[in-house]
Amino acid sequence: MSIAIVIPQGLFKTTGELLSIIILQFVDVNDPADYRRNLLPYLFYLEEDEAGPDPLQIARQFGIPEERMIVLSRNENPYGPSPRVPEALRNAQLNRYTDSRPFLEALSRYTGCSRESIVTGAGMDEIITTICRLFLMPGDRAFIPVPTYNVYGLATELCGAMPIYQPKAIGNDMVQDVPKGVKMVFLCSPNNPTGEVLTIENVRAILEETDAIVFLDEAYIEFSEKSLIELVSRHDNLVVGRTLSKAFALAGMRLGYALAPSWIAEQYRRVAPMFSISSASLAAGVAALQDLAWMRECTGKIIAERERMKKRISSFLPSQGNFLYLKTHDRSKDVARRLLLRGIIVRDCSIFHGCGEHALRVTVGLPEENERFMDEFERADGP
Ligand code: PMP
Repeated sequence: MSIAIVIPQGLFKTTGELLSIIILQFVDVNDPADYRRNLLPYLFYLEEDEAGPDPLQIARQFGIPEERMIVLSRNENPYGPSPRVPEALRNAQLNRYTDSRPFLEALSRYTGCSRESIVTGAGMDEIITTICRLFLMPGDRAFIPVPTYNVYGLATELCGAMPIYQPKAIGNDMVQDVPKGVKMVFLCSPNNPTGEVLTIENVRAILEETDAIVFLDEAYIEFSEKSLIELVSRHDNLVVGRTLSKAFALAGMRLGYALAPSWIAEQYRRVAPMFSISSASLAAGVAALQDLAWMRECTGKIIAERERMKKRISSFLPSQGNFLYLKTHDRSKDVARRLLLRGIIVRDCSIFHGCGEHALRVTVGLPEENERFMDEFERADGP
C-alpha cells in the first residue's frame, strides 16, 4: 500500500519548518501536557507582530523622566478626539448589548454611502482578518505589494493561505502585474510606511484585470487629497477599509469600518463577531463623526507639520499620511536605538517586508515633539 501526502505548494516556507511540524505531529513527546500538537500546523511559523517598545519601561530602564518620552512610532493623532467624545462616553448605555445602527447612520452621512454597503469591526485590523476568513483557505494565495502594512500578510497566514510579497519601487505609486490565480489583493493608499497614494487609474486597472477580491486600505485617507470610495459602487470585487483610529484620534476605542459591495457586506455580517464593538466605542464614534470640524482642524495641523518637517529633512519622502518615511545612512535599528536612548520612539522599518535595513517611519506629533525629533535625528544618523 502506498500513501500519498499532498502538500499545497508554498504552504510551508522551508523544509526545516515542514520537518519540525511533522515531528511535533507524530513524535511521542512523552509529555501528556504537550497539547501544542493540537495547534493548526501553519500557526507554528506565523511571525509575531511587533508592538514596539513600551515607553514607561524604557523611561525606567534608562532613567529618562517619563514626561520626556515621545512616542512617534504608532501613527496616532496627538491632539485627541473631539471634546464631544468624553460627554458621549458618560451617557453610553452599558447594561444592554450594543446597537450599531446610530454608528452606521453617522458613517453613512460621513461617507455618502448607503448603510447596507457599510460593515464595522473592532478596528480595521478586525475587518482585515474577517475579510480574509471570507475568502482565504489553506493553499490559497494573496498578492501583497511591499513594503506595506504587516497585518495583511499576518491575516493571510492565519487562514493558512500564502502571501505573495512583490517588492514595489519605494515612492512609486504604481502597482502592476497581479499574478493569475490569487484570491485577494491588498493595496494601501496612502501606503503605510512609505506615504504615497495610488492613482484612480491604477486601482481601476487592477480591479478590471483581476478576478481576485481587492482590499484597499484607506486608514490615512483624511490626511490625503482624494479617496477612491467612489469605485466601490462600480466594482463588485472592491472593499475599502477605513478607521477612526487616525484622523478621529480614537485608536484606543477600536473603531473600523469598510465600504463593500452588497454581496460581500451580506457575507461579512454572517461571519463577523456580532458585538465586537463596545457601547462606549460606538457612542464615541457617533460623537466624533458629528464633529467633523474638530477632525479637520487636527488633520490640518498635522498636514502643516508634516510639510514643515519634510522641508527641514529633505530625505523624507513626500507623504500623504500622518507620518514620514526616510532612508537612513546607518542601520535603522541602530538609529532607532540611539533615538530611544534620548527618549524618542520611532518605527524601525526593518520589520516591514521589503524595506531593508535602512528605513525609519516617524509619526507627525505635536510641534514641540517634532522639533525634538528633528534635532536628535540629525545627531543620531549620518557619517
Ligand atoms: N491599516 C493601516 C495601513 C494601518 O496603519 C493601521 C494601524 N496602524 C490599520 C489599518 C489598523 O487600524 P485600526 O486601529 O483601525 O485597527
